Amino acid sequence: MRLSRYFLPVLKETPAEAEIASHRLMLRAGMIRQSASGIYSWLPLGLAVLKNIERIVREEQHRAGAVELLMPTIQSADLWRESGRYDDYGAEMLRIQDRKERDLLYGPTNEEMITEIARACLRSYKDLPKLLYHIQWKFRDEVRPRFGVMRGREFLMKDTYSFDIDEAGARHSYNRMFAAYLNTFERMGLKAIPMRADTGPIGGDLSHEFIILADTGESQVYCDAGILDMNAPGADIDFDDVAGLQAMVDERTALYAATDEMHNANAFAALPQDRQREARGIEVGHIFYFGTKYSEPMRAKVSGPDGQDRLLHMGSYGVGVSRLVGAIIEASHDEAGIIWPESVAPFQAGIINLKPGDPDADRVTAQFEEAMTLAGREPLVDDSEERPGAKFARMDLIGLPWQVVIGPRGLQNGVVELKRRATGEREELAPEAAISRLLEGAV
Ligand code: ATP
Ligand code: MG
Repeated sequence: MRLSRYFLPVLKETPAEAEIASHRLMLRAGMIRQSASGIYSWLPLGLAVLKNIERIVREEQHRAGAVELLMPTIQSADLWRESGRYDDYGAEMLRIQDRKERDLLYGPTNEEMITEIARACLRSYKDLPKLLYHIQWKFRDEVRPRFGVMRGREFLMKDTYSFDIDEAGARHSYNRMFAAYLNTFERMGLKAIPMRADTGPIGGDLSHEFIILADTGESQVYCDAGILDMNAPGADIDFDDVAGLQAMVDERTALYAATDEMHNANAFAALPQDRQREARGIEVGHIFYFGTKYSEPMRAKVSGPDGQDRLLHMGSYGVGVSRLVGAIIEASHDEAGIIWPESVAPFQAGIINLKPGDPDADRVTAQFEEAMTLAGREPLVDDSEERPGAKFARMDLIGLPWQVVIGPRGLQNGVVELKRRATGEREELAPEAAISRLLEGAV
């Protein structure tokens, strides 16, 4: 993709309204544009990252046994009257009327709608278990939208819903999502810590928030430092192994880790002093087992092995897809700009042609473009006439993992410069060697 053709409206000035790095950088790098409070357009560079995050989320949901569908953003108020949440939800819900004065709403979440689908389509215990998810825009009229896409009013969420015949089955579904979440966030270069979270009026111990430690996070969290050394279970974990999955979850929930609402000061104080970690965190995911909370009022049942009807046992599992764009930047940036992990980068490499119009520079630039595009790793080519300093600064700002600097002087010596954005390491290489280096890590 040539910069001259692309749409990358970078800002020179630091936007005054942005309080945290990710918000500032997303605006400066031309990733988003605010259209109303907490509502954003996703410009091409931002959209490319959002799509990469979605892809990883999808792949890991699929691996864990979840199936994708798509529910609408607009929902009927009557559904929410069935569960009793229409009146309970409060001012965060955007209520709408159509021309026939029927009450509608812009979905803040989808438990009611998916319960209705399950009620209509699942008949027997033999249809279970089921894990269904979608990736869809939500609207919540937050009291204080802020930090850009971190706390928006319109935001993209992946929400999965599980349906099981009993609590034991639901726990296995829960554990599937627990493992999937650890793997999902790890692939994005994030260390997400599962923390005990409030289950609200339902009670029980089956709710975890997945939290990334960051000074700019909105949640106050407490954990045993030992939990920071734990890795994700990895792609080869057997999701059908009930006991194995439970053991993995037990191991990762044995150490103290809790959000503010669930914090037990005494238990925390009992930890060795040097392991007590008190920090701020960003909630990127939340998993929840809520039993028959919706299936009961909405009468969502299937027939059991004995022919008797049973209420569905359900859970819901959310990932903040659009919030993750900001969270990844909070975790990975420097003074000069964003540093994308390769897994979510909008382009793997930026090719800077220092002198467009110079036949050699143009030819070698085209060579990189062609080889990388053929390998499915189309680069962003800076073919602008600007001075080198401006090009370097823009490339650092948008944070592509690799930069290739191509200029007539280097080419006279048969080399281009390859720079790794994360470390700033530079190396001079023959163009062919640089191309192979860039394609080596190709996935
Ligand atoms: P929070 O405590 O941050 O308000 P929540 O607990 O209300 O979030 P959930 O209902 O658990 O949110 O939603 C699932 C996920 O959606 C959250 O873990 C978070 O990553 C994301 N999310 C929730 N609200 C927002 C928002 N206003 N903007 C962007 N992402 C959000
Ligand atoms: Mg939550």
